[in-house]
Amino acid sequence: MAGADPQRVLAEVFGYDEFRGDQEAIVRRVIAGGDAVVLMPTGGGKSLCYQIPAICREGTGIVLSPLVALMHDQVAALRLAGVRAAALNSSMDPGERQDVIRAYREGELDVLYLAPERLSAPGTVEMLQQGRVALFAIDEAHCVSQWGHDFRPDYLRLGELAEHWPDVPRIALTATATPETHREITERLRLDNAEHFVASFDRPNIRYRIEPKGQVRRQLLDFIRSEHPGEAGIVYALSRKRVEQTAAALAEAGVDAVPYHAGLPAEQRLRAQTRFLREDGVVVVATIAFGMGIDKPDVRFVAHIDLPKSVEGYYQETGRAGRDGLPSEAWLAYGLSDVVQQRQLIDMSDGDQQVRQNQLRHLHQMLALCEGIACRRVFLLEYFGETGAEPCGNCDVCLSPPRTWDATVPAQKLLSTVLRTAKERNRTYAAGQHIDVLRGVTSERVTHMRLDELSTWGIGGDLATHEWQAVVRHLLATGMLESQGEYGVLAPTQDAKPVLRGETTVLMREVPAPRRGGRSVGRG
Ligand code: ADP
Ligand code: ZN
Repeated sequence: MAGADPQRVLAEVFGYDEFRGDQEAIVRRVIAGGDAVVLMPTGGGKSLCYQIPAICREGTGIVLSPLVALMHDQVAALRLAGVRAAALNSSMDPGERQDVIRAYREGELDVLYLAPERLSAPGTVEMLQQGRVALFAIDEAHCVSQWGHDFRPDYLRLGELAEHWPDVPRIALTATATPETHREITERLRLDNAEHFVASFDRPNIRYRIEPKGQVRRQLLDFIRSEHPGEAGIVYALSRKRVEQTAAALAEAGVDAVPYHAGLPAEQRLRAQTRFLREDGVVVVATIAFGMGIDKPDVRFVAHIDLPKSVEGYYQETGRAGRDGLPSEAWLAYGLSDVVQQRQLIDMSDGDQQVRQNQLRHLHQMLALCEGIACRRVFLLEYFGETGAEPCGNCDVCLSPPRTWDATVPAQKLLSTVLRTAKERNRTYAAGQHIDVLRGVTSERVTHMRLDELSTWGIGGDLATHEWQAVVRHLLATGMLESQGEYGVLAPTQDAKPVLRGETTVLMREVPAPRRGGRSVGRG
């Protein structure tokens, strides 16, 4: 259909009456041969931005996508619509591969999907040069960002496309849009002359809720039962083991839940994915291995039972809810144990200093979101560079503003305890021990270490353990305390000084008492 009108292709091939948002401008830009950088949230409609130009321009549109598993779905969907599409990847046998290559050379393909690593394989550039490239689409372009959460080294070489094909338009697309990632995409993919299309990242139909973690499986079950019974959702957990345990617990409680993680056999994963896509009300409990590129419009909730590693990751994962525009929820439970655990993971990771520093920054930003006392959406939009948004009226903070209290004195007590123990005992301790010291709780360990002789012993009896935990979380989130090493020992940072000197106040959200027993508790 080379030379076809994009509006007609939209209607006749894809069955849609109108372009959405920036789609039309992007499509026209690329058809005219210009480069584009597209930042659009998940579900915004990025695929059409390169599929339609691929159809309308002479030659084959080459789509670089890291998601080999999903290429087949995309190819199948395009073929159903009558588009001549194919994929080349390592899971194909040589015969199939030869057929695809031949079809490409003969100009019989509108769209060809390739994994980025394929492009760096010997002979691929030459092979592509034997046919005609209509455009290059670089999907999930944030994978080029070394400081992002999804870095893939193969993406770094995609900048070379500009040298081999100076006259072929390139379009980079992503749903991750911090100003920093945006800049990296532009620089590393050498898109200096690109036009930039930055859609609003607001997802007004998603209600963000973040609550303190108690008995998290109980909380999750309450949440699903009382607010999303029989509805499709995704539950994210950090480890495979937690995925399996949580899926089993939900299934036992009568929720149609299936586990999904990279360690499960391929057929089982495929079955979970297919059931989730085709049936109603399936809940997938998964690691972050699940979801990229999955297009299910009626996902009513995304729940995180462990703290995501970054705000980008959180936003991308929660963005899988409510693509159909109907009310949906993003629910997250987090606690002090998450902070300690993630800190351990970072300390144990094999990245260099800079990588760790970066992971730590991601963790702190995530904590700042959780501990914040401002509208969640305003925080998220500002994080992605959209300033000036008004409180949304549709997040937990807006709907029931957290009561705040002046925690300056408890913060000072806690910080001095940490400093004192370090000084007087020449040792550092994890949060639990400090809280015991503050509350004057005697234990074998306390007596053994003679912690009850410390001058800060028992000065914090006025707060309950869960309140002290909240103070610790808050100080970690605001970077006044650091949790270090395998045992999560606490250490104050430079930022703690103004508080210790009484120069600044610490305002934090009031914490509800932890739930006990199995009774369901309403929205709080
Ligand atoms: P993204 O890649 O940005 O996450 P997709 O390209 O998968 O989003 O599109 C999300 C959904 O929106 C798909 O179901 C797609 O068919 C639909 N869609 C895209 N553009 C339009 C449009 N102009 N009109 C109606 N539906 C659209
Ligand atoms: Zn809000």
